[in-house]
Amino acid sequence: MSKSVKCYLECCKSSHPKIQLPHNLPVLIGRMPELAVTDKMCSRNQLELTANCQKKYVLVKRLGANKSQINGIDIEQNKSSRLEEGHELHIVNGKYPHQIYFTDENTDTKAQKSTISSSRIQTEKADISSKESVHKRQKVTSKTKAKKAKITLKENDSPSTDSVYTFNSPDAGTLSTQKLESKNTSRIPEKHHWSQGLRASMSDAELIVLEDEKLVVIRDKFPKAKYHWLVLPKEGISSTKNLTFENIDLLQHILKVGKEIANEVTDEDIAFRFGYHAVPSMSQLHMHVISQDFNSPCFKTKKHWNSFTTDYFVNATDIIQELATDGKVQDRKKLTSLLNAPLKCHRCKELQKNIPTLKKHIQKCCIVL
Ligand SMILES: [Zn+2]
Ligand SMILES: [Zn+2]
Repeated sequence: MSKSVKCYLECCKSSHPKIQLPHNLPVLIGRMPELAVTDKMCSRNQLELTANCQKKYVLVKRLGANKSQINGIDIEQNKSSRLEEGHELHIVNGKYPHQIYFTDENTDTKAQKSTISSSRIQTEKADISSKESVHKRQKVTSKTKAKKAKITLKENDSPSTDSVYTFNSPDAGTLSTQKLESKNTSRIPEKHHWSQGLRASMSDAELIVLEDEKLVVIRDKFPKAKYHWLVLPKEGISSTKNLTFENIDLLQHILKVGKEIANEVTDEDIAFRFGYHAVPSMSQLHMHVISQDFNSPCFKTKKHWNSFTTDYFVNATDIIQELATDGKVQDRKKLTSLLNAPLKCHRCKELQKNIPTLKKHIQKCCIVL
């Protein structure tokens, strides 16, 4: 069976139905009712989005005069930046957050599909709940309201300009597939860094970048990229395993501060990810803020690479969603096998022979975009 991968643009605030981005066809978005964007600062043709459904990214070109952001980083005018799953796209001036996701299932026939392997089904089921929880997370207190609003939205608004939007009906069952490799479930402890000394580092003036009454931001002593910080709550929480519903506000604050730090970076075309390792170290909860260049002498091993570029690196937003939906963070022990997965470029997914080859490749691969 041939797979047809589809790409969707989804509103993080559930203000409008998701929008399909066809493969290799530029779609213009901006101030328009279909996106519920009314801000006059936003051009009608603010962004041109071109999906690559094979390699699973979207090229975002800013046409409008005012700024748009990917993960808080401004997109330069008339230049293309790469948007990937898990990234946050702000359509104008840090407003109107959106994300993309890919699915290689036909939503109409997915229910009858019995040919896919059971492990695959599990992955996808897990993903439905995480997609749905995007909306739950936004309004934890008025879940039903948000759902209703989503359903009553018009399914096929006619586009206000003659560009090539494809508006798809909102279908909560649409899936985004994640590549999960679970060849073995042997547990390899996360010993990525000095984690035992993490609490001590929280009071190391040399490392502290920022501090407020709830958290401390420190530089990672062994940065795996040009910019690599850790955000740690002052409250003694040892790992994501101990998180509950009550920590949602704290985690949102951690993410917000992490994004603010990343926002200070003015390098061109630098993207950041914010997240936690799947199998947390024992001593102290910490969120990584890491730039996606991975240009650092401290990044030396396959484990380093895979811990930040596979599903072993869990987006902070996913953790928050899980808490909002389930009141706890799911067990990801089986993802430890990903640390031994073959080396792949995090952008184009091309296989790499070894670390030196990978390092060379990712430098070129950054320049292309
Ligand atoms: Zn870590
Ligand atoms: Zn590449």
